[in-house]
Amino acid sequence: HLTSTQIIQPGALAEPGVYESTLGTVAHEFFHVWNVKRLRPIELGPWDFTRPANTRSLWIAEGLTNYYGHLMIKRAEIWDESRFLSRESETINNIENAPGSRLTSAEESSLIAPFIDRAQHIQRTNLANTSISYYPKGELLGLVLDLLIRGRTDGKKSLDDVMRRMYDEFYLNSPNATYYLRGRGYRSAEFQRVVSEVSGIRFDDFFTRHVRGVDVLPYDEALSYVGLHLVQQRESEHYSGITVNVGTPGSAIIGNVINGSAAEDAGLQPGDEILTIDGKKVMNKDWLSTLNRFKQGDRAPISFKRDRRTLRTTLVLGAMDRFEYRIEEMKDATVGQKALRAAWLKGE
Ligand SMILES: [Zn+2]
Repeated sequence: HLTSTQIIQPGALAEPGVYESTLGTVAHEFFHVWNVKRLRPIELGPWDFTRPANTRSLWIAEGLTNYYGHLMIKRAEIWDESRFLSRESETINNIENAPGSRLTSAEESSLIAPFIDRAQHIQRTNLANTSISYYPKGELLGLVLDLLIRGRTDGKKSLDDVMRRMYDEFYLNSPNATYYLRGRGYRSAEFQRVVSEVSGIRFDDFFTRHVRGVDVLPYDEALSYVGLHLVQQRESEHYSGITVNVGTPGSAIIGNVINGSAAEDAGLQPGDEILTIDGKKVMNKDWLSTLNRFKQGDRAPISFKRDRRTLRTTLVLGAMDRFEYRIEEMKDATVGQKALRAAWLKGE
């Protein structure tokens, strides 16, 4: 609704994890009051219920809402700077370690939302290796775009100005598209135009490479404007590349096998049922803790059931290039860079 929402969160607010995730949801939904309920992609209202409402702009609608949700928790001083930066580092980890990042762009991810956004598939898919979500990808596009605009305009403009201008132009000042919605929705190209108009700088190359394309985001340039940089470290824990549907009781049935992982090298496939690890019988609840007793470089003998046959293989753990990313302060950050960071985190 334009003026109300209902959020249901299982668990007790006294539990730290529940409190944190409720905070995130509330901030996200509150930002939706502007971004999506009022300012909206043209395909998302007025609705045509006779056809699918595919849009290229969910990375703006949901991803930028993720970004501002987190940024607002910092601006409200509920999170401190390091909590906010570590939350953004987690999102970088999520995106940069996903093989789908180099295959699916933010716009494509938006367009195929009905097939990737918690969709149930009858056939087996390989989406875990080929796709990414427009939520975290859009969040990082928001982070990087905001800092590039702030940096390239010497702090005169920001993504906040872009969002305000979008709201003015399309929601407040466009003729109503229908009797029940004010203004009209924006087209994806119009967001790009407004970014360039507000900043006075052309961002066409950015949109081609990072919104419609799959090039790695220019984290270093963006973060350097505010005296930060991205530290990349090889992951110290081993990574099997196996995912099993969590929370279901019974045996551990492989949901996905990540490309280039130990599990793929060992010949494991989605649908295989893990029976034993190093001779010990495992179930869904304990397969991961059993596997985590091994160290990087160890060999873990596994038996598994495929169709009606019991097969054996060995997981050679930790051969994969996965990285931990951390946003950290530059040692030689200047007064100007620190001032720009303070303005960003305060919303000035
Ligand atoms: Zn949302």
